[in-house]
Amino acid sequence: MEETEAQALERRRMVDSQLRSRDIMDRRVLAAMGQVPRHRFVRPVDQPQAYADAPLPIGHRQTISQPYIVALMTQLVEARPEDTVLEIGTGSGYQAAVLAALARRVISVERIPELAAQARRILAELGIMNVEIIEGDGTRGHAAEAPYAGIVVTAGAPRLPVALRDQLADGGRLVLPVGSRDGQMLERWTRRGGEVHRERIAPVAFVPLIGDQGWSEEAAGREGWSFGG
Ligand code: SAH
Repeated sequence: MEETEAQALERRRMVDSQLRSRDIMDRRVLAAMGQVPRHRFVRPVDQPQAYADAPLPIGHRQTISQPYIVALMTQLVEARPEDTVLEIGTGSGYQAAVLAALARRVISVERIPELAAQARRILAELGIMNVEIIEGDGTRGHAAEAPYAGIVVTAGAPRLPVALRDQLADGGRLVLPVGSRDGQMLERWTRRGGEVHRERIAPVAFVPLIGDQGWSEEAAGREGWSFGG
């Protein structure tokens, strides 16, 4: 499926007006955001809004994050061409596709099988071969291929899941939203030997990270959870 000229133009405008104009300066990140066809990761009905400065629903009460947030998390994780990066929360597969343009390999864990299957299908259609999508509880990470140079969690956690901290390589970067159901702080944790160091980046609002080291399903399902990201 070829994209229209209008879609390519909207994507260039998105990069200039939403990313470059803010604090996205990493040229590799700007190039990846300019390249990955975001409209393919949203529902057909939402395609006219695919390049808007906002999150969009992807079904199952989940969302694809605002482009700026995807770019910010990608910039913070500093993926290099030789890295294997772990993502928790595949959702639409868009963030995974952006990371795949920068890293050697991306492993992405998703708890909702239908979303995992849909993301796999779109990535295959786009010829993106270096993403592996795994179904399961990502709060436990994916020990089989640890440690990771980069970890990105795209759902809001009550606290840093210990399994993810333990699967971070020396010098590795872990980017995740931590806080309450209604709002979180985007944090970056960096490992230096046995120690991890935290930076607080910006307030954000993500859907809940549900699992063993996240929220319980009931806590996450309560009325008033703010959907955003
Ligand atoms: N990165 C996605 C957006 C993620 S929305 C994108 O680019 O579209 C958050 C996703 O995290 C949802 O799909 C949700 O089902 C998933 N999720 C929540 N808790 C999870 C867990 N413990 N393990 C894996 N996925 C989880």
